[in-house]
Amino acid sequence: MRVAAHTLGCKLNFAETSDLLRRYAQEGNTIVDFRDEADLYLINTCTVTAVAEKKCRAAIRQAHRQNAAAQIIVMGCFAQRADDEIRRMAGVSEVWGNDRKGLLAHSGDERTRTFFKIQDGCDYFCTYCAIPYARGRSRSASLEETLCAARRIAAEGTKEVILTGVNTGTFGQGNGEQFLDLLRRLDDVEGILRYRISSIEPNLLTDDIIRFVATSRAFLPHFHIPLQAGSDHVLQMMHRRYSTALYRDKLEAIKSLMPDACIAADIMAGFNGESEEEFDKALAFVDSLPLSYLHVFTYSDRPGTAALRMDEKIPVPVRHEHTARLLELSAKKHRQFADSQLGLRRPVLWEHTDHDGRMAGWTDNYLRIMRPYDEGLVGTIEEVVISPDNLVDE
Ligand code: SF4
Repeated sequence: MRVAAHTLGCKLNFAETSDLLRRYAQEGNTIVDFRDEADLYLINTCTVTAVAEKKCRAAIRQAHRQNAAAQIIVMGCFAQRADDEIRRMAGVSEVWGNDRKGLLAHSGDERTRTFFKIQDGCDYFCTYCAIPYARGRSRSASLEETLCAARRIAAEGTKEVILTGVNTGTFGQGNGEQFLDLLRRLDDVEGILRYRISSIEPNLLTDDIIRFVATSRAFLPHFHIPLQAGSDHVLQMMHRRYSTALYRDKLEAIKSLMPDACIAADIMAGFNGESEEEFDKALAFVDSLPLSYLHVFTYSDRPGTAALRMDEKIPVPVRHEHTARLLELSAKKHRQFADSQLGLRRPVLWEHTDHDGRMAGWTDNYLRIMRPYDEGLVGTIEEVVISPDNLVDE
């Protein structure tokens, strides 16, 4: 059977799709490109924005156009939320809920880096977010099972592992286990040279975790800490579990131990009730933080969420204007961070992709570096002096 897959949304979805494809390949099926004719199309969907849902519908229609006789299996968060709508679409043979997804998965198309899903679901119910409804409550495999999966990843020759989850820091909470204990044990897994934590909520990033990362063998000075809003009033409206002061404390704790750490933040533009004055202040607050760049999202009403029913909607053009200003700030922060690293020597893990005779790699603190292609360097770590010539301006 020819099997093709299309994935939308987060790294978790990508890890899950890769796992499924690996299983289909092991059973003797041929994996083909999603643009090709296949006998089975797997579509792993996302519901985070209305745009993501539109892309899911388009992918289903594309698969059906390419082969009207093919089976189409639709899974993921949009499938979970809009099961009935998707079942009615032409060509769809099965709709899988998120409960059919495994608790451990990893992406497998890279020889050097992999996204390793260690946790699923979330109990936080932030008012704008549909994920707890789509993915269910926080859950994870046991620490020992997770370690076994990490050892298998090491045996495949993967050098860098990015720990991924919906609310990663809640790993183990249903099993009486701690995220920090998992980090400590993973650090001892032979063969894995580097770990990154894909994202962790500020209230779960304890000082012990920060100290551990600073002194560990393989955890890198790279953090992704969702902020979402730069004012306490909006954070409360969002039901986030921290204040702007706590957020700043965490960043300062990181920088005091790891001055060259890269720190990224998610931030949302145009959430209900954020006045123009509040937005200006929030922008100044974000600018004052030692952040390296931002992931900017534009608020959109999601079915089933508490924010949908809130008043004081921000007009859509204003949401887009705030998004543009945040993106501008992100570019400035990234330039400042990259400039601060010029002339420093940082370890780079070289990847296998040949970009027209050049190869790329990431420093420990997440700067993209390029050099002429050398097959012998793939999967190795080299100390590189950062310069305007080798730095990729992303
Ligand atoms: S922490 Fe909040 S934003 Fe993140 S998945 Fe859970 S509910 Fe959504």
